[in-house]
Amino acid sequence: MSEADCLFCRIVAGEIPAKIVHETDRTVAFRDVDPQAPTHVLVIPRDHHPTVAALAAAGGGLAEEVLAAAHEAARLEGVAETGYRLVFNTGPEAGQTVFHVHGHVIGGRGLNWPPG
Ligand code: 5GP
Ligand code: ZN
Repeated sequence: MSEADCLFCRIVAGEIPAKIVHETDRTVAFRDVDPQAPTHVLVIPRDHHPTVAALAAAGGGLAEEVLAAAHEAARLEGVAETGYRLVFNTGPEAGQTVFHVHGHVIGGRGLNWPPG
């Protein structure tokens, strides 16, 4: 998929509306359109990397920035102390459907383990 066709690149570009909860120069955090918990925020780098593995391989501190932005989103949502889950579905069998890396920040209720 080209970046022009990428759903989350289009959200970064403002071509598709999203409820943004936090932004930095290199990251955007916005509400998932189909929330699975009271807090369900997606945290992405503005640059297109398909998976968390590609993000880590890209270097330059971007992966760390995404992790820090995820925690900041959790703090803003009020779940940093009560607890939250940060999930990077990676590949089809893990349920990744959008191939622009995104961390799911999920919280605000008790979460089962192991996940389904
Ligand atoms: P994945 O299944 O790839 O781990 O997660 C993709 C997530 O993106 C899903 O939780 C889905 O609800 C969310 N999503 C899909 N399309 C949109 C959209 O247009 N806007 C927003 N905010 N979330 C979306
Ligand atoms: Zn993209």
